[in-house]
Amino acid sequence: MIRMTGVDKHFGDLHVLRDIDLEVARGQVVVVLGPSGSGKSTLCRTINRLEPIDSGEIAIDGTPLPAEGKALAGLRADVGMVFQSFNLFAHKTILENVTLAPQKVRGTRREDAEKAGMVLLERVGIANQKDKYPAQLSGGQQQRAAIARALAMTPKVMLFDEPTSALDPEMVQEVLDTMTGLASDGMTMLVVTHEMGFARRAAHRVVFMSDGEIAEDSTPEAFFSKPKTDRARDFLGKIL
Ligand code: ATP
Ligand code: MG
Repeated sequence: MIRMTGVDKHFGDLHVLRDIDLEVARGQVVVVLGPSGSGKSTLCRTINRLEPIDSGEIAIDGTPLPAEGKALAGLRADVGMVFQSFNLFAHKTILENVTLAPQKVRGTRREDAEKAGMVLLERVGIANQKDKYPAQLSGGQQQRAAIARALAMTPKVMLFDEPTSALDPEMVQEVLDTMTGLASDGMTMLVVTHEMGFARRAAHRVVFMSDGEIAEDSTPEAFFSKPKTDRARDFLGKIL
């Protein structure tokens, strides 16, 4: 569903993605781990072309991502992304946040967008918050709203970049539960997170990044019990 082949990316002199080959099959959940600055966010951002790449190819569901233009907008809509900061529209209600893009980008009629939006808000457990503004919700509720908003575009793939890092500890679990639910429903997901419990429980694969490279790509069991590289052992020693 996501296929990256030979992807390279520099920021000036800094080589931040080095010859990345990564495939995420349909319905797979891949957790990306790695030290700060190893390129995890950049990896996510290249997948929907928030960041251009220098060379290589990225394909979504078999279609290579074009560099720009109308086709890019269409393909980008297939890739939902949830960030550390919730990025909701502050002056729109929760339901408006969820229904805006389907109307504007997909041309969905308002009633249909609202019907679908309410189903999504139910699914993430905040249907009763639909008429509130983002600032009136807790961090966990805002992040669940952000997930619903991404799902409203019926993406083929969901990318999560540290979705719980900005949350108070008591709100982390509700967001992880929402993500686990999504995974059980068969969503293809690439998740950057420091939540090792989630990685162990929900991931089919763990990808460990170090200095812009994929240093390991294995099952959670293998990665956590027998990391193959010193870099991964080092990393695990610091966080576990
Ligand atoms: P963290 O765990 O801290 O979020 P990360 O693994 O997500 O780190 P990236 O944000 O992908 O790391 O950054 C990889 C490297 O690229 C870092 O050295 C970072 O400073 C650099 N970098 C990221 N974005 C830019 C940018 N827009 N311009 C220049 N350098 C950048
Ligand atoms: Mg990051």
